[in-house]
Amino acid sequence: MAAKVRVAVNGYGTIGKRVADAVARQSDMELIGVTKTRPSFEARRAVDAGYPLYLAGDAAPADFAAAGLPVAGRIEDLLKQVDLVVDASPDKVGKANADLYRAAGVRAIFQGGEKSDVAEASFNALGNFSAAHGKRFVRVVSCNTTGLARAVAVLSAKWGVEHWEATLVRRAADPAESKRGPINGILPTFQLPSHHGPDVRTIFPELSIATTAVVVPTTLMHVHVNHVRLRRPPAGSADVITAFRAAPRFRVFAPWEHVDGTPQVMEFARGRGLPFNDMMENVVWEAGLKLDGADLYFFQAIHQESIVIPENIDAIRAMTNPSVDAGASIAQTDRALGLARAPA
Ligand code: NAD
Repeated sequence: MAAKVRVAVNGYGTIGKRVADAVARQSDMELIGVTKTRPSFEARRAVDAGYPLYLAGDAAPADFAAAGLPVAGRIEDLLKQVDLVVDASPDKVGKANADLYRAAGVRAIFQGGEKSDVAEASFNALGNFSAAHGKRFVRVVSCNTTGLARAVAVLSAKWGVEHWEATLVRRAADPAESKRGPINGILPTFQLPSHHGPDVRTIFPELSIATTAVVVPTTLMHVHVNHVRLRRPPAGSADVITAFRAAPRFRVFAPWEHVDGTPQVMEFARGRGLPFNDMMENVVWEAGLKLDGADLYFFQAIHQESIVIPENIDAIRAMTNPSVDAGASIAQTDRALGLARAPA
């Protein structure tokens, strides 16, 4: 059996703690350690989970000693033991960390808060898996871009996309972010079109796409309002529903399930019981999709905290195993993460 890929996670917050758990669940990967910059309930969680804890940034060893949290060393010590690091530090901090990774000679994955030039390739598993083959630095695109890229991958492969318009209704904060807002109001994003369209083109360079965005007072999920003109449209809406049901990492809710919006989606996720009650699939509503000639209208909901987790796992595999293809990696990742595959 091939040696397991030894992985570090630098930054153990919303994304990092989920990536760490996901790596620990893969039979072909080994989680060597995670980093924290200060003691917190999350640092304690890492210790309780048995993940060796290392210090990063301006972390002070005395703070961890005072909290009774055992520390195995600094990020530089951790990097000496791994093949690859997943950087899940805050927006733009990843770029500053890149020098550490270069000096240590390790492969690195960055998140969507970094600009695309931080890495050799931007990545989405359904969209451009092979772009990460053999690369040393790869960026997994943001939550919104991941959601859009998955849908583009499904629709463009089957029917071709003439043009894509999307308005992104964005959550104001993650559930634990008590200092962000707004808590009452709708904030238009005064960048027209928004940056999300160009970000999708880092995966699909030829795609004609324009996006706009608003921020709303919710923590649960983003919702995308999509209008897509298809090149070779199928006979009807049912064909598109069938395609989304057959695609990995999509969950289609039928009208009889009475999932009216994101509250019921997250209640479904709580009942399913994946770690953190995550919802790693794009959520599509049968009743919220209509094909009118070549014009397809559909909503999709994106769980911002977890949608990029399977993509990070696939990026690790694509970078370190040039013989693995998208289908095999996605299936392996999803089995290990307990993502139910919807019946075709
Ligand atoms: P977060 O603030 O929840 O976690 C970041 C962690 O990194 C914190 O624990 C922080 O203490 C730590 N950190 C700070 N400085 C560091 C340093 N110098 N070295 C190592 N760690 C450091 O942030 P997050 O939401 O997990 O976001 C991480 C990345 O993932 C960002 O690029 C973000 O844009 C992207 N992302 C976030 C979401 C989301 O909805 N939260 C979704 C997709 C992508």
